[in-house]
Amino acid sequence: MRIFSILGARDESRPIGFLRRYNILPFTAMILILAGLSAHNYFSQKRVLLRQLQTDNTNLVHSFSAALSRFEEIREAVNLQVLVRNISLGLDIFEFRYLDRDGVIVNSMFEEEIGRRFDRPGFRDMLEKPDKLGGFYTDNRDMTPVLAITYPVYSEDELVGIIDLAVDISDLNYMDEELRKTALRHMQRDVRNLLKSISSSVTTSLDVYTTLDYHRFLRSFTDSSSSIQRISIVNQEGVVELSSDPLRAGNRVQIGDAPAGFKGEFAYENGQPVYRITFPLPGMEHGGHQHVLLMRVDAREYAENNSALLMTALATTLAGILFAVLIAYSIYRVNLESMTQERDRLEREVEARTEEIKRLSNTDPLTGLSSRRYLEEQMAVEFKRAVRYNHSLSLLMVDLDHFKKINDTLGHLAGDRVLSEVGRRLAKAVRETDFIGRYGGEEFVVILPETTASDATQLAEKMRELIAERPVFFEGRPIDVTASIGVAELTSSMTNYEEVFKGADRALYISKEGGRNRITCFNPARAKRPA
Ligand code: GH3
Ligand code: MG
Ligand code: MG
Repeated sequence: MRIFSILGARDESRPIGFLRRYNILPFTAMILILAGLSAHNYFSQKRVLLRQLQTDNTNLVHSFSAALSRFEEIREAVNLQVLVRNISLGLDIFEFRYLDRDGVIVNSMFEEEIGRRFDRPGFRDMLEKPDKLGGFYTDNRDMTPVLAITYPVYSEDELVGIIDLAVDISDLNYMDEELRKTALRHMQRDVRNLLKSISSSVTTSLDVYTTLDYHRFLRSFTDSSSSIQRISIVNQEGVVELSSDPLRAGNRVQIGDAPAGFKGEFAYENGQPVYRITFPLPGMEHGGHQHVLLMRVDAREYAENNSALLMTALATTLAGILFAVLIAYSIYRVNLESMTQERDRLEREVEARTEEIKRLSNTDPLTGLSSRRYLEEQMAVEFKRAVRYNHSLSLLMVDLDHFKKINDTLGHLAGDRVLSEVGRRLAKAVRETDFIGRYGGEEFVVILPETTASDATQLAEKMRELIAERPVFFEGRPIDVTASIGVAELTSSMTNYEEVFKGADRALYISKEGGRNRITCFNPARAKRPA
């Protein structure tokens, strides 16, 4: 209680006040800490999820990138260069190139000329008149005598390309004319055989080549993956060159500066959670320049995990709040309970003490009979009752005779002994409905409800006899005691109970006057007479 009075002057004994002042703070703190922990947990787990998403997709992009390189390698492998190297039939091939039908070098032994236009003198004529193609001629290239042929490649009767082939024939220069001619003829046959075999390979090679289509490659990649939604490859100018979605090709996209590495970003596109990735493709052969890979990946799982996390965090916080509130409430209940118990206990104690005080004030300690106060209270009640129901009510006033003498000769203790013994004897004589008490010093009063004066007089006589018939012993010595008694009955002329007392007192006085140890009944008729 002292602490409370130091902390605040408010009414701390009320449990709610107490709770409000001392329990709300720790519980608010507890709730805040819980919410903080949940939030921290949520955000760190969310970060982990995002990192996971990024790692997964980095791996995806790298595997795509690797697949793309492999795809390009395969594309490159299916070309004449490799083919010719494998089937050279022992010929000393000096130059070899494959041109498309417009004369652009698609493939060559000399890589640097790939993509250029083939512009050997006389070639343009041949290109314009394709029937001129296919004849052998000797030529000098880089000061080396060669046997050359410009050989058309047909696929389904259509000119698809031209092979330009030159075989070194400098060795033949040292032969005599006849031998040289024969060797040249043999060589022409070998070259023809070579070209024949190549030419069929070329068409298949081209067929394969055309199937190695970038769009198809991208589409197959998206089709086989459950998460990749779209792959696009954008050139430096921000134009989509290749895309798994052909409708996108040629579109312009905003990608800002070319990304230095993997860049991923979670977003919602048309209400769907997606992960947008940009990734540089520096080594890509397509178009020769740096390209950027754009990939859109399904991020539903991430979004779902994220919302599950959020729900968990919210649930944890709510559970924490509920828990704190429950604890606070139980503490409040316990406080309330103990307060109530304490209050009840105090109330019971006060009640018992009041009861005790009342009993003490209603009881005369010496005789154990009713006190004067109680007698008067009861008399007031009985007076009202008797008046209301027109019942009789009588009162006895008993006064010990020459009591002072007992005190004076034998001492106060003897007097006390006499008083308690007389009280005991009188109590024995009364009915349960009667009230007997010590009115003052050596005066007793008996209230007798429903009793007429004559019945009361009879009882008084019995009492007088009970007192006088045998002595009271004190320390072995007999003490003779007598009492004078005044009897009064309630009459219709009496307006309050004091008048009954007065009547009994008056009768008692007469008993004393009359020589003591006797009974007098109050006569109102005589009393009214002026003295
Ligand atoms: P009377 O016959 O006229 O009644 O004479 P009495 O001596 O009985 O009357 P009085 O009124 O002169 O004296 C009463 C005495 O009772 C005086 C008082 O000292 C004594 N007394 C009053 N209360 C007590 C008590 O509690 N114990 C004892 N021992 N004496 C008491
Ligand atoms: Mg007296
Ligand atoms: Mg007396």
